[in-house]
Amino acid sequence: MSDDVRRIARGLKRYAEGLRAIEVRRVPRHRQASPPLPRAPAGGAKRDALAALVKQVEACQACSLYRTRTHAVVSDGDPDAKLVFIGEAPGRDEDLQGKPFVGAAGQLLTKMIEAMGFARQGVYICNVLKDRPPGNRLPEPDEIEACLPFLEQQLAIVQPKVICLLGSVAAKAILGPHVAITKVRGQVWDYHGTPVVPTFHPAYLLRNPPAKKFAWVDLKKVKQLLEDRG
Ligand code: SF4
Repeated sequence: MSDDVRRIARGLKRYAEGLRAIEVRRVPRHRQASPPLPRAPAGGAKRDALAALVKQVEACQACSLYRTRTHAVVSDGDPDAKLVFIGEAPGRDEDLQGKPFVGAAGQLLTKMIEAMGFARQGVYICNVLKDRPPGNRLPEPDEIEACLPFLEQQLAIVQPKVICLLGSVAAKAILGPHVAITKVRGQVWDYHGTPVVPTFHPAYLLRNPPAKKFAWVDLKKVKQLLEDRG
C-alpha cells in the first residue's frame, strides 16, 4: 500500500470516527415555512433582505403582542455570520432598546460568545418572538406559530453554518413541541441541512449557575461543528 493510500485510509477512518462521535439527529418535523424570501447572496443583498424583513415585522399584527410592544426586536449582529443564536422573546430591556439580549441574560450570552473565542458582533442573534410578551410571560403556542415564519425567513437569508438554540422555547419552536431542553441539549440536530445544537438559555443559567458547565460543553460542540464546516 502506498503512503498516499495509507494517508487517505487514515483520513477516512478519522472521518468515520467523527461521525460516530457526533450523532446527527433529524428534526422530526419541520414546521411549514411561510414562503421564504428569495435566497439572498452575501453582502448588500442580504442586508437589503433583512431590512425588508424588519419592515414586515414592524407592520405585523398577526398576534396580539404588537399592541404592547415599544419596539419590535428582530436581530443583532452580523448577517454574514456563520453562527446564529436563537432565544425566546424580548424582555423589558430588549423591548425598550429594540435589540435582543441586552439585559442581564444578554450580558451572560455575550460572555459565553467571547469564551468561545468570538465577538458578539461577529455572530447573529435573534429570538423566536419579535415582540415582548407582557410581564415576560412564556410565549403562547399561537404566538409562536404566528411569528415563526419571520425566524424561518431570517435563517433562509443568513444561512449560517451552525445554529445554537437557547432554551426550551427555541428548542420546541425549531425541533418540535415534544422536546425537553434537558433531554436534547448538547445533541446535534438537522435544520434544512444546517446543524442545530440546543443548550440552556442564559436566563436559566443566571438562576442555576451549576448548569453553566453543561452549557459550556454544548458551546464547545458548537465551536467544533463550526471548525469542521470551515
Ligand atoms: S410577536 Fe411576531 S407575530 Fe406577533 S405581532 Fe409581533 S411580529 Fe407579529
